[in-house]
Amino acid sequence: MYEDQLRGEVCEIGRRLYARSLVSGSEGNISVRLDQDRFLCTPTMVSKGYMQPEDLAIVDREGNQTDGYRKRSSEILVHLAVYQSRPDVQAVIHAHPPYATAFAVTRRKLPTGIHPEQTLLLGAVPIVRYAMTGTQLLADEVARQVDGNVAVLLANHGAVTFGPNLESAWQRMEVLEGYCRLLTIARQLGKPRKLARRDLRDLEELKFRMT
Ligand SMILES: [Zn+2]
Repeated sequence: MYEDQLRGEVCEIGRRLYARSLVSGSEGNISVRLDQDRFLCTPTMVSKGYMQPEDLAIVDREGNQTDGYRKRSSEILVHLAVYQSRPDVQAVIHAHPPYATAFAVTRRKLPTGIHPEQTLLLGAVPIVRYAMTGTQLLADEVARQVDGNVAVLLANHGAVTFGPNLESAWQRMEVLEGYCRLLTIARQLGKPRKLARRDLRDLEELKFRMT
């Protein structure tokens, strides 16, 4: 896909993150793989709701910036850790969605087998051990949890989703936040009920056919 098109898509995802209040201030970051060694990513200290295509930076697989007049995101090491661990991943999104981040700060595990959307689109969402933002340590902790998953929560921090393209990474972030919101409301009403084993098996079969 052409770089110009990807630049436009990253800005569009940034607008959605901001419009849906999944980031505040200059929080959050988005990246997409350009080729084996180059990654397009959002700049630091800029609202993700108002980015222009020329604001984006390009980094190599070590995180060295090779293009762009704005400084690259300080969280790019987390993105690169995901790309390195999962060659199939083409796009990564990090945000601080309020409901998902509430689970991350309380370190409360997300239950599975409750909602079809969660079963089909998210699966299990592990909580990555806390490490200081922007550090290689945090990137290493994330790398340990990405295998077989599409989303992780960062303890006391936020959420990371990834996928074969920007749109899928975005949908996973949106569904993750929706699921955490649903759980929060449901728990005010009572105890969420698990789906029956047979219904879960049907969903797993459908998921298998979808992939
Ligand atoms: Zn963050």
